[in-house]
Amino acid sequence: MTIRFAAATIHTTGEDVDDQSVSSQTDSDYAEEDNNFEDWVSDQAQNQSCRSLFEDKAFPSAAAARAHDKDVHNFDLRTISAKLELDLHQRIRLINFIRKHAPTSEDIGNLTGAETLFSSDEYLIPQIEDDPLLQLEMDDWSDDEDLASTDQRPTPPADLPSALRQMQLLERKLAQAHRDMAEYRSLVGQQFDAGRFAEIINEPSSSLAGPSPRDDDSHYFSSYCENDIHAVMIQDKVRTSTYASFILTNPILFRDAVVLDVGCGTGILSLFAAKSGAKHVYAVDASDIAEKAEQIVKENGLENVITVIRGKVEEISLPDDVEHVDIIISEWMGYALLYESMLDSVLQARDRFLKPERGVMAPSQCRIMFGLCEGSEILKERVGFWSDVYGFDLSIMANNVYEEAIVDVVGPESMASEPYLLKDLHLKDVTSRQLDFTSQFTLVSTTPKRTKIHAFVLYFDTFFTTTGEPVPPEVPVKVTKEGDVTLAEVWPVGGKAPPQRRASTGPGLKQKEDKRVTSFSTGPCSQPTHWKQTIFLLRDPIHAEDGTIVTGTFYCKKSATNSRELDVEIHYSVRQNAETTAVGETVVQIYKVR
Ligand code: SAH
Repeated sequence: MTIRFAAATIHTTGEDVDDQSVSSQTDSDYAEEDNNFEDWVSDQAQNQSCRSLFEDKAFPSAAAARAHDKDVHNFDLRTISAKLELDLHQRIRLINFIRKHAPTSEDIGNLTGAETLFSSDEYLIPQIEDDPLLQLEMDDWSDDEDLASTDQRPTPPADLPSALRQMQLLERKLAQAHRDMAEYRSLVGQQFDAGRFAEIINEPSSSLAGPSPRDDDSHYFSSYCENDIHAVMIQDKVRTSTYASFILTNPILFRDAVVLDVGCGTGILSLFAAKSGAKHVYAVDASDIAEKAEQIVKENGLENVITVIRGKVEEISLPDDVEHVDIIISEWMGYALLYESMLDSVLQARDRFLKPERGVMAPSQCRIMFGLCEGSEILKERVGFWSDVYGFDLSIMANNVYEEAIVDVVGPESMASEPYLLKDLHLKDVTSRQLDFTSQFTLVSTTPKRTKIHAFVLYFDTFFTTTGEPVPPEVPVKVTKEGDVTLAEVWPVGGKAPPQRRASTGPGLKQKEDKRVTSFSTGPCSQPTHWKQTIFLLRDPIHAEDGTIVTGTFYCKKSATNSRELDVEIHYSVRQNAETTAVGETVVQIYKVR
């Protein structure tokens, strides 16, 4: 019985037995396998060189490595497992987690057992092939209560001769080991087919199968039937006037086009499209707001141009035998861009309805940006505030503030680095799978003097092009400044459109004058939008000065418990400047965006 993971394959060795064959084994089968078990114990756990969990140091056996970690690092897996009540799989996860992220033993001592690492399938993947510590765990578990709770066979009577009793205990141990092994293998095997193993290792969170379908929709769609939420969005001048500007000032694209508005809400984008000369607009929304959109369309005398369809865009079909549309418009962006997961629906709509080749997605591109944030104000508001409330200490109210992303506005002066492009989404071809992502980042502090950095900040920039092609990397986003006049202020909605050029060749054509880019930013330097910024507070501030380098990895995936929420993990380490090679410890923080 071995756990063997070659680079791209999970091997099933001759000794491995699946669940069913284990349960149908006879006692004599067990007795026969007992010999193999002895061999395995000596081969694997005892004689194989093994690395310490906390140092890059090898020991002649897993037991020696474990003893070293106990003596030198005061870390004993048994003690912490008992303290946190970890089962076998959670212990395996913990070992793989330590191997992967190299925390200190003190960090591990601070865990509570509730962290996502203990349920994340990512950490079922061995970080070291044939890790002897994992083998030792598989061996060890049967000494504890796991065995009693899972093995249904009677415990050997106490009066049996001790050799026989010993043998029967070993048989039980082996049988349970087989069952456990089979379960572990099936857990890993279900999720990591051989061909994709290497790819997923590099992108750990991205492709894990989620749990069975749940209703993540009802609450979501009912939140969109209220007036207030639509008022907030429409009054977000940066947002709405950029959409208006793109649609209304590009009649060359919209004239005579068939348009699909995914998630029409009040129908505002459909009204713009109709105004810009669209031949027909299909406005789809799954929320009750669709009824109001229908009335709005009528009130504005556009029922011949706009058809409102009530339903999920994934489930509807277009009337009038329409198969394809020229343009999909949608305002699908959520906090931290991907919260709400509406983009998945828009991508399905693209794949079902957008004209192949010449169809245009609007917006055509979103960039997720990431930076260092000084963040002392937010810290004061969200943490400091609780420590003295009318003279009382309410600090525990701030307990989970480091586990939840904060949606708030931070001013331009709080940016403590240049923004870093974390993820560039091209709407014409991004896939749903790519929305769970892992990105490396490097942030260089720009603070002129030594400063405490209390947070990372994340925001997004959105681009519209008339070709649907992404903009070249050097094209900057338009940053609307406080006090800038927006389209909404110079051109009342429904008023006379600005001068239009007639399209001579129909929608979607890549003409010279179509290269104009419309864009907006939700970053700290822009006039605030209703998306604000997303702040990830750090438990321990980074002490930075000009040139301090923070490198790390940003993991983002849909939450396993609600696909509209996000799980974010940020791993980072600090180097004081480019000259020094000394890199600090890797810090891991885990957040929910909800
Ligand atoms: N387009 C409007 C509203 C944007 S809010 C505006 O710009 O003001 C997003 C809207 O999309 C909500 O009304 C929500 O109900 C709708 N929506 C989200 N996912 C959807 C889906 N899968 N199918 C249909 N409508 C959806």
